[in-house]
Amino acid sequence: MGTLKIKPGVITGDALLELFDQCKKVDCALPAVNVIGSHTANAALQAAREAKAPVVIQFSHTGSQFYGGKALDNADHRASIAGAVSGALHVRTMAKVYGVPVVLHTDHCAAKLLPWVDGVIGAGEEYFAKNGEPLFSSHMLDLSEEPLERNLEISRKYLSRIAKMKMTLEIELGVTGGEEDGVDNSGVAHDKLYTSPSDVLRAYDVLEPVGSFTVAASFGNTHGVYAPGNVKLKPTILRDSQSAVRTQRKTGKDEPVSFVFHGGSGSTPEEIREAVSYGVVKMNIDTDTQWAFTHPIKKFMDDKSAYLQGQLGNPEGPEKPNKKYIDPRGWIHLGEKGMTARLVEAFKDLGSFGKFDF
Ligand SMILES: [Zn+2]
Repeated sequence: MGTLKIKPGVITGDALLELFDQCKKVDCALPAVNVIGSHTANAALQAAREAKAPVVIQFSHTGSQFYGGKALDNADHRASIAGAVSGALHVRTMAKVYGVPVVLHTDHCAAKLLPWVDGVIGAGEEYFAKNGEPLFSSHMLDLSEEPLERNLEISRKYLSRIAKMKMTLEIELGVTGGEEDGVDNSGVAHDKLYTSPSDVLRAYDVLEPVGSFTVAASFGNTHGVYAPGNVKLKPTILRDSQSAVRTQRKTGKDEPVSFVFHGGSGSTPEEIREAVSYGVVKMNIDTDTQWAFTHPIKKFMDDKSAYLQGQLGNPEGPEKPNKKYIDPRGWIHLGEKGMTARLVEAFKDLGSFGKFDF
């Protein structure tokens, strides 16, 4: 087994495939964190440094827009395209300074958002022409609301485009429950929350000849954190999907499919470990890191409330200045530290803490 030696910086092409293979070999997965600006991106880079493992940094459509500035007009997804590119360039620059390997990814892209990913891929192709490697490591399409064959046909087209840059495509089969990024699946019928192994086999047949792909399969996982008890998690769907592909297509690989676990927030360590043991290489985490960022700031605001009523005047005197409490760097850094600590915990839950050499 041994540890895999990886270069700091953004991991693309064959190096990404080697990384996913290594994850499956040693039964670990990488946390994939949604970032919305340089503060959260830097918090993720710091977590990778502390955990001695690569991190997946990803941008959603609205996260990309926010990265560029929420006040911008997002007609034709312009702000979301430029925000994603800007975020990717920031991460590319800083990953080397932090000395950590990073997988750069875009999150859920439903059919109506395809022009967003088209724009990001277009920018990536320009980057590729100049630099000989893609801007992002991978993109996600989420066409799980479409019929299976349409989902796979569109996914195949996109994969054949990005495979020219040796990029990986993440697809979604079945529906992730809950609500995220303005998509509300909390009312979806329970059987839709479970992907069937035959759908995974069909995806394998369509996509494997074209290029590298990962599958966000639904096994009762939900976006967001809810009181337990509504939907039962069935990670064995992942195991059964692996065995369907392995036995029916004679792949020669124990785990021919690389799975992605969406809605990782709120899952127990046991649930995470079981999913990882069936070939999950990436687990998305958002709600938990949002809370980890926000909570220390709330505490600061509460604790220092008497110092934050105006620029002058606090319990120490009516003319005492409050500048050091007002400076956003003080409390934003508390959010960054909270997010880093939560991510380090995620690396431990996913078994990837300290498992890599770079
Ligand atoms: Zn998701």
